Amino acid sequence: MATVKEQNFEVLETKREHYGMIINGERTDSSSGETFTTYNPATGEAIATVAKATTEDAERAVQAARDAFDNGKWKKFPVNKRQRIMMKIAGIMRSRFNELVSLEIMDSGKSLSAAQGQVMQAIEDFEFYAGAIVGHRGSVNNVPGQFQNVAEKEPVGVCAQIIPWNYPLMMAAWKIAPAIAVGCSVVVKPASLTPLTALVLGEICVEAGVPQGVVNVIPGSGSTIGNYLVEHDQVDKVAFTGSTPIGKNIMERASQTLKRVTLELGGKSPNIVFEDADVDAAVDGSLFGIFYNTGQSCEARSRLYVHEDIYDEFMEKFVAKTKQLSLGDPSDKGTHIGAIIDDSQVKTIDEYVQSAKEEGATILAGGKPATVEGFENGHWYEPTIITDVNHEMKAVREEIFGPVVVVMKFSNEKEAIKLANDTVYGLGSALWTTDYARATRVSKAIQAGIVMVNCPFSAFPGTPFGGYKQSGFGRELCIETLDLYTETKSIISYFGSRPLNPFGL
Ligand code: NAD
Ligand code: MN
Repeated sequence: MATVKEQNFEVLETKREHYGMIINGERTDSSSGETFTTYNPATGEAIATVAKATTEDAERAVQAARDAFDNGKWKKFPVNKRQRIMMKIAGIMRSRFNELVSLEIMDSGKSLSAAQGQVMQAIEDFEFYAGAIVGHRGSVNNVPGQFQNVAEKEPVGVCAQIIPWNYPLMMAAWKIAPAIAVGCSVVVKPASLTPLTALVLGEICVEAGVPQGVVNVIPGSGSTIGNYLVEHDQVDKVAFTGSTPIGKNIMERASQTLKRVTLELGGKSPNIVFEDADVDAAVDGSLFGIFYNTGQSCEARSRLYVHEDIYDEFMEKFVAKTKQLSLGDPSDKGTHIGAIIDDSQVKTIDEYVQSAKEEGATILAGGKPATVEGFENGHWYEPTIITDVNHEMKAVREEIFGPVVVVMKFSNEKEAIKLANDTVYGLGSALWTTDYARATRVSKAIQAGIVMVNCPFSAFPGTPFGGYKQSGFGRELCIETLDLYTETKSIISYFGSRPLNPFGL
């Protein structure tokens, strides 16, 4: 087991053949010696071996986090010192930007432009929260004279943070940055398909001077390690991003210890194009809305509703541009569509497309796994447009998590709102209109955590991100997130000159 002390933590190359986990400020291997291999989805090639955490390792990580929280200095640091270290994390990430981008592309198969945007946002998250903590305060509240009430914000404690494979570094940053900003300690479990950039981020945190045990990163199986963290009585909070079924399961199991829970789950986000929209802007925004990150996005605008008056014009342009999207070498600047994470995801996507076809839908573009020259062993799916669908179909109701959009026509605003809200999910939504009153009206009527008005982007550091309904609860990426990593302690004091004797004895 490599044990490198925090003070002289050995900084290794970003890309290497083996990655250890991070426990208590040390790079360490599995207690069982087990490793697993992570692959490049675009080529099918093995990239590296990764230490596979056992429950014994998870226990060590929880104890390290517990000890750092209970006895450590991190939460007692003055805010400016925590800020300085968080800015240093961001600074190291900036200096290793290209390495992080290429590692992210390799491990997840995403395109260069997507990876660049996400690594940049991960950096900006640390910068944002380094600033945001200054404004995160408790309150002084009105109470009867000679009493005083101060409500303080205290860090919630040890946080288990479980993340998915679609945004490996960005999700790690969304979780780690706000938690450590307020003084929590964390045990992060990356997705097994994409553990590398979260591990490097864990190393960067140690290198930047985050004290031992405050940030631990342990790759391993969701059902064993994830489960272990969720049920552990020394873990105070679980923050989970992933699928809705697993989120429900986590909430149920976390209830045994009454952990604080935040859940960022799946989606089936609507995208409404009104008859008064700027059609070209709507076409381009809708393309990005569904095909960004190869559709493997929780807030993918995967249900497209187009007003009947502009339907033909819109669809002609939308289909033509979809057919122009290029699949290919993810690290090539011109590539729009990266790989699918693995073969089983390709099969899942294809099953949805086939089921729609069997139910009478029409495929206007794509509709099958793709073969990409030079990347024949990778996992690919053609950007796909499906019409002649209805809300009874599985492909319209369920999250596909791939480059597949279903399209329907509507004839008035009321109908569009009804269709948009006819889903168990409520994460993203988008609308395209040049009528300001309509934009306001529809934004208010949509049951979703995010509404994009004439805008293809769903998140910036500072904007609340999270869902309504079965897309989960809690908001990330914003100031409100800091509340979700803190408890409020109400301190009531009496400063009157006469002792109080309420029983009158
Ligand atoms: P997933 O639910 O399969 O896995 C997510 C994480 O949970 C992984 O680290 C996995 O190992 C772990 N896990 C699995 N079983 C577990 C268990 N029983 N206990 C504890 N942890 C367990 O999701 P995925 O396939 O990795 O990611 C795709 C899903 O994530 C999609 O549904 C997508 O919409 C969602 N997602 C949501 C957001 C958001 O912000 N709302 C962002 C990204 C992805
Ligand atoms: Mn991988």
